[in-house]
Amino acid sequence: MLDTANYGAWENLCGRCRGALKEMGIAPPTAEQIAAAAAEPKPTKKEAAK
Ligand SMILES: [Zn+2]
Repeated sequence: MLDTANYGAWENLCGRCRGALKEMGIAPPTAEQIAAAAAEPKPTKKEAAK
Protein backbone atom coordinates (compact mmCIF):
# COMPACT_ATOMS: atom_id res chain seq x y z
CA MET A 1 0.00 0.00 0.00
CA LEU A 2 1.25 3.44 -0.90
CA ASP A 3 2.07 5.90 1.81
CA THR A 4 0.14 8.92 0.62
CA ALA A 5 -0.72 12.10 2.46
CA ASN A 6 -1.95 15.62 1.88
CA TYR A 7 0.82 18.08 1.14
CA GLY A 8 -0.60 21.54 0.56
CA ALA A 9 -1.86 21.75 -3.01
CA TRP A 10 -1.33 18.01 -3.50
CA GLU A 11 -3.97 15.75 -1.99
CA ASN A 12 -2.34 12.36 -2.27
CA LEU A 13 1.40 12.51 -2.33
CA CYS A 14 3.64 9.56 -1.56
CA GLY A 15 6.52 9.78 0.89
CA ARG A 16 9.11 10.13 -1.88
CA CYS A 17 7.34 13.10 -3.44
CA ARG A 18 6.85 14.76 -0.06
CA GLY A 19 10.54 14.34 0.59
CA ALA A 20 11.38 15.90 -2.78
CA LEU A 21 9.13 18.89 -2.12
CA LYS A 22 10.70 19.32 1.28
CA GLU A 23 14.13 19.32 -0.36
CA MET A 24 12.91 22.06 -2.68
CA GLY A 25 11.88 24.15 0.29
CA ILE A 26 8.14 23.65 -0.02
CA ALA A 27 6.75 23.35 3.47
CA PRO A 28 4.12 20.73 4.26
CA PRO A 29 0.67 21.96 5.30
CA THR A 30 0.01 22.51 8.95
CA ALA A 31 -2.31 20.16 10.85
CA GLU A 32 -4.86 22.98 10.79
CA GLN A 33 -4.71 23.24 6.99
CA ILE A 34 -5.09 19.48 6.64
CA ALA A 35 -8.13 19.49 8.93
CA ALA A 36 -9.67 22.40 7.02
CA ALA A 37 -9.16 20.64 3.69
CA ALA A 38 -10.70 17.44 5.05
CA ALA A 39 -13.75 19.32 6.34
CA GLU A 40 -14.28 21.11 3.03
CA PRO A 41 -16.86 19.41 0.80
CA LYS A 42 -15.29 18.44 -2.50
CA PRO A 43 -17.24 18.95 -5.74
CA THR A 44 -17.69 15.90 -7.93
CA LYS A 45 -16.21 15.90 -11.41
CA LYS A 46 -19.66 16.58 -12.85
CA GLU A 47 -20.17 19.67 -10.68
CA ALA A 48 -16.67 20.93 -11.41
CA ALA A 49 -17.35 20.74 -15.16
CA LYS A 50 -20.11 23.31 -14.96
ZN1 LIG B 1 5.30 10.10 -5.35
